[in-house]
Amino acid sequence: MSEIKETVFSKIIRREIPVDIIYEDDLALAFKDIQPQAPVHILVIPKKPIPKLADVEPQDYTLVGHLLLIVRHIAKQAGLASGYRVVINNGSDAGQTVNHLHIHLLGGRQMKWPPG
Ligand code: 5GP
Repeated sequence: MSEIKETVFSKIIRREIPVDIIYEDDLALAFKDIQPQAPVHILVIPKKPIPKLADVEPQDYTLVGHLLLIVRHIAKQAGLASGYRVVINNGSDAGQTVNHLHIHLLGGRQMKWPPG
């Protein structure tokens, strides 16, 4: 397990910095990305400060499934019927910049493959 450090997402969870919240429950929060890479760009995070996907433990099984169901729910609400992309950057090679597990939901435009 990586060392758990305070991140900007900890501040967002505590509402210490402005954020455009899309969804919240006891376990998770979803909010608009500050630098959107698509017309819809939302981050879904656990409130539990798990640094990255590689740090997920077996006891987080339900939580991770819960996060994906939130992604699905938000995509439906956003009307992304023709498709959307779900991304988890894990670690520095993947370009992860915030060390608090987050799922990117991107939609509203044609995506390219492979990603950069
Ligand atoms: P990563 O590159 O770690 O997968 O993604 C981190 C994401 O968090 C980036 O897309 C970045 O724009 C977003 N982000 C970083 N700081 C903030 C912030 O203070 N507020 C919001 N809403 N998003 C942020």
